[in-house]
Amino acid sequence: GLAPSEPKEGEENLRSPICCIMGHVDTGKTKLLDCIRGTNVQEGEAGGITQQIGATYFPAENIRERTRELKADAILKVPGLLVIDTPGHESFTNLRSRGSSLCDLAILVVDIMHGLEPQTIESLNLLRMRDTEFIVALNKVDRLYGWKTCKNAPIVKAMKQQTKDVKNEFERRLTEIITEFKMQGLNTELYYKNKEMGETYSIVPTSAISGEGIPDLLLLLVNWAQKTMVEKLTYVDDVQCTVLEVKVIEGHGTTIDVVLVNGVLHEGDQIVVCGLQAIMLFLFLLFQGPIVTTIRALLTPHPMKELRVKGTYVHHKEIKAAQGIKITAQGLEHAIAGTALHVIGPDDDIEAIKDQAMEDMESIGTPICVP
Ligand code: GDP
Repeated sequence: GLAPSEPKEGEENLRSPICCIMGHVDTGKTKLLDCIRGTNVQEGEAGGITQQIGATYFPAENIRERTRELKADAILKVPGLLVIDTPGHESFTNLRSRGSSLCDLAILVVDIMHGLEPQTIESLNLLRMRDTEFIVALNKVDRLYGWKTCKNAPIVKAMKQQTKDVKNEFERRLTEIITEFKMQGLNTELYYKNKEMGETYSIVPTSAISGEGIPDLLLLLVNWAQKTMVEKLTYVDDVQCTVLEVKVIEGHGTTIDVVLVNGVLHEGDQIVVCGLQAIMLFLFLLFQGPIVTTIRALLTPHPMKELRVKGTYVHHKEIKAAQGIKITAQGLEHAIAGTALHVIGPDDDIEAIKDQAMEDMESIGTPICVP
């Protein structure tokens, strides 16, 4: 089924952590996502990975399977990991849900051949501002001169196969990059040498081309999340949901793509999203205003790839977090991406929720009035 975050018996009631990928252009953000998504698919076995709206879902079993070589005895308490699909998407650095960032965790990608670049520092500052935990992927290790490919191997195993020269060049570049981070006021260390995660940020060397270090990255993400974020990841009844994109879809009209961070959404739920309202004054002006509407349909892509014909979706009566979902409803034409979606419960005061929606919008700094 399509309720991957449904807790199984004996499991704690945790939702999947949400992870985004950030970093300078061309460091390999897209490739890294392809790589962590593609491994099992290429072997003709999807491994439970499902493409969602704006995100990819990795079930815990898939992560366990892919990290087996690390012999970490991964005890996975979270149902899986949800990775946001749009690296570098302008809005997703802005995306907030009730004052906190949409992502629980981030991967900050740094090119080992280039070190810290302007957008690395921008991403770093955003992450710090939002208090988002992150792991550094030191990508493109395969570009070290003389690198011997060890497809999808844990990084320590891959490193053992390298010549002394490769190891030296790796150490030299790593030391340089650790110094660059220090100049940004940040302590970093190779993850398997890092004894004080939390104080010191972990670096995982990776190759998005040949997959070295990817098992380490997956395991570290999940372990880190479930060790330090139990409270944040505990499933709640209150809906926490963020609008990723506003799109017109043939046959559905204007739809919104959302990430349901926590809680449950139902068909027929009354919702409030931030919007721009057109008002005729002397000029035609658009003002900010909340949109109150009712969820007509909750849609996800078809899980079976071969059945996925363009424009066909699975309809759901209800969906539980964390997931990427397409919502159809009336009046979404002027909805604003990057803002929170609120659900109006039977005992809620609509006006109070409208006010809350507007506060969210002010906090992301959308202009008050767009002529
Ligand atoms: P993005 O802009 O950060 O999303 O970067 P891309 O994923 O588009 O990658 C930029 C370029 O670097 C592409 O040509 C990729 O094929 C290449 N690339 C990405 N990761 C690696 C890697 O680990 N090793 C090598 N050799 N090339 C990579």
